[in-house]
Amino acid sequence: MTVVDIAKELIAFDTSGPPAREQACAQWIKDFLEDIGFEAELQVVEKDRANVIGKIGRGKGPGLVLSGHIDVVLAGDLGLWKVTGPFEPVVKNGKIYGRGACDMKGPDACILQAVKELAKESYKRQLSVVFTAGEDTGGWYVTKVLEEEKITTDDAMCGVIPEPSMMEIIPVHKGSGGAKVLIHGRAAHSSKPELGINANQKAADYLYALRGLQSKLDETRHPLLGPTTVECTMMNGGFKSNIIPDQARLTLNFRLIPEHKDPEISRRWFEDMIASLSSKDPEFKAELTSHRASEPLDVPLDSRIVTTLRDILGTRIVGAPYYTEAVNYTRAGIPTVICGPGSIDQAHTPDEYVSLEQLELGVSTFKEAVKRICV
Ligand SMILES: [Zn+2]
Repeated sequence: MTVVDIAKELIAFDTSGPPAREQACAQWIKDFLEDIGFEAELQVVEKDRANVIGKIGRGKGPGLVLSGHIDVVLAGDLGLWKVTGPFEPVVKNGKIYGRGACDMKGPDACILQAVKELAKESYKRQLSVVFTAGEDTGGWYVTKVLEEEKITTDDAMCGVIPEPSMMEIIPVHKGSGGAKVLIHGRAAHSSKPELGINANQKAADYLYALRGLQSKLDETRHPLLGPTTVECTMMNGGFKSNIIPDQARLTLNFRLIPEHKDPEISRRWFEDMIASLSSKDPEFKAELTSHRASEPLDVPLDSRIVTTLRDILGTRIVGAPYYTEAVNYTRAGIPTVICGPGSIDQAHTPDEYVSLEQLELGVSTFKEAVKRICV
């Protein structure tokens, strides 16, 4: 079997969702790993859904973990698939087509091919592989792998997730968050506005202050990610054209650089804006009704995994606009970066593909990384 054969096998399993059913594909991966000498485990997380964890050189001290996901996004409008059906992979003009070709069954195949070619080596450090359910389709079951200690700092000291990055190295990406602000006004007939307090007008004051916050945030730029951004993405207020609105609601969405990773920081921005507007305007009344913030990925550029991949590839170190499981591994004490074949531009699209050249580069890179860290 070549990396292309493995990719075809994986793509042929319909693991699209929601609802995604990864278990049959997970079982195929487990059997593959056992055939080449890995200890492998199926971790069933829900009906028809499972992660796979494989280990070789167990107990030899923490080495590398290579981690991919098994689920893929829905095929969408089948009429838009011109080259082949989503689960009938074909190779054409140096590319393999099918749902998940680049995100990320092609990259998964690179992991499997690389570890197969190295299965007979004698390991100085443990090599682990993980294939998760629910990365793109709901569930985020990498958390089960880590919570149930299937992979710990005793297994791995660093990790790579081959999300499509054209084999560029991504040690940092932004965290994301959301908040809701409820603005209180006072209803009155619109012919007598002086009797009411217009919540929509007060919301406009808040939005204006938000632009001020952004200007301040623009002063702190991460070298790879730029500044934290804060946007109001939804707003509604009022219920009748001739009534002064008594309530307005703003939904905020923000993307955080590592400097702002403590969730309390962003919470304070939005609360302080309310406090500041209220102190200048006694009629301004608002509250932050919800707030959540997820952590950015922030693996140091001089960490072992970054320098190892940079030595092998010589490619650029860049930031990513999207959120990944690398945060979970890194938070668990295993610094993990993104580096995988194919372009994110082809992910989630009809006629998804990855070039065979990128797959070959994936295999050779992961092999070399395993050699340098584990063999
Ligand atoms: Zn992905």
